[in-house]
Amino acid sequence: MDLTWTRQQQELRAECRDWLSANVPRTPLPSGDTREGFAAHVEWERLLFDARWSVVSWPTEYGGRGASLWDWLIFEEEYYAAGAPQRVTQNGIFLLAPTLFEFGTQEQKDLYLPRMAAAQDLWCQGWSEPGAGSDLAALSSRADPDPDGGGWRLSGQKTWTTRGAFCSHLFGLFRTDPTSERHRGLTYFLVPLDAPGVTVRGFGRLDGDEGFAEVFFDEALVSDACVLGGVGQGWSVAMATTSSERGLTLRSPGRFVAAVSRLIDLWTRRSASNPGEAAPHRESVIRAWIDAEAYRLYTLADVTGIVEGRPPGFRSSLNKVWWSELDVQIHEAALDLLGPLAELTGDAPGAVDAGAWIKGYQFALSGPIYAGTNEIQRNIVAERVLGLPRK
Ligand SMILES: Cc1cc2nc3c(=O)[nH]c(=O)nc-3n(C[C@H](O)[C@H](O)[C@H](O)COP(=O)(O)OP(=O)(O)OC[C@H]3O[C@@H](n4cnc5c(N)ncnc54)[C@H](O)[C@@H]3O)c2cc1C
Repeated sequence: MDLTWTRQQQELRAECRDWLSANVPRTPLPSGDTREGFAAHVEWERLLFDARWSVVSWPTEYGGRGASLWDWLIFEEEYYAAGAPQRVTQNGIFLLAPTLFEFGTQEQKDLYLPRMAAAQDLWCQGWSEPGAGSDLAALSSRADPDPDGGGWRLSGQKTWTTRGAFCSHLFGLFRTDPTSERHRGLTYFLVPLDAPGVTVRGFGRLDGDEGFAEVFFDEALVSDACVLGGVGQGWSVAMATTSSERGLTLRSPGRFVAAVSRLIDLWTRRSASNPGEAAPHRESVIRAWIDAEAYRLYTLADVTGIVEGRPPGFRSSLNKVWWSELDVQIHEAALDLLGPLAELTGDAPGAVDAGAWIKGYQFALSGPIYAGTNEIQRNIVAERVLGLPRK
């Protein structure tokens, strides 16, 4: 592993930093998990696209820069260091797109990728159902061949669909072979949410944002062209998506390195104003920095492996446990440091950073649950990475 950046990479970093410093909104956008905030974030995504920063690692014909994984990591570091808005396009560009590149037909790539890059189509993920979360293979939504011609009729319900109420498209798994069980007989569908028979019902989260949705399918008709990766191949196609979700692409180290540097800044400010109160928290701030840096170095080693032809596969479960627990750790350190002030939000007198730390903490708590719970990831690491026997 060579940790020296080339001149071309340093130039990319400088170009990216300059653009972000000129364009990142001075006032943070409202939460992307509200309708108003989502619309503001989509505008931001379109600005990114116009400047060719929305999908840097994609080929140029789809709106990218053809950048390497290393270049993409540089972009991510700069993006989060600049405090740029959260990526409401992430389910499309980071989860679905790698799967489309791997399994999509040429027509599917040409149809979906440019619109995804330009934030014209906005994608949500339809895995979970009321009776299928950790045990995804227990899903009961189904797709039946349309008796009146080509295409498929979708029936069933998805839930916990992040930003589903604001998105235009959903990717999800449906059972196409009614006689099949568990992982077999499933098919991966790309579904326009305005198809007749689809009903999207938004609902609120504990933190008050309205970002979740339930999606109901009542014999909704979709064409054969909406099948990704072949009828009956859904499980293996979906596993490619989950590998992106758990591993590098959804949560690059730049995000946590930036969060920990904000934590250090917070500690510096607190120790200037209240040295006696800040001092006992010095160790936990240092520990968070060490762990974020360790995650960054681990990721660089992982990228070396990927570039040399060793895809992450089940190792992405290791990343998932690491980044999600690191996120909780960083936010817990900030809340401890703030003491009672941590509970002040918005423009309340005395609120620190407009209450961003408690908001971030609330979201961090969901990290060990979404993208597959950490208990499940630990099982996967034990069995598939370490080769330990099943219990
Ligand atoms: C913020 C957030 C966003 C989400 N976004 C989406 C989305 O966009 N699309 C989507 O499809 N889903 C989404 N989800 C749902 C998420 O994928 C599920 O919550 C998750 O898979 C767990 O499923 P469950 O909630 O049904 O819990 P359950 O599967 O019922 O699990 C309950 C508990 O039992 C444990 N458990 C279950 N089985 C085992 C086992 N075999 N061994 C050890 N422990 C076990 C779990 O770890 C967990 O602690 C989101 C969830 C959150 C919190």
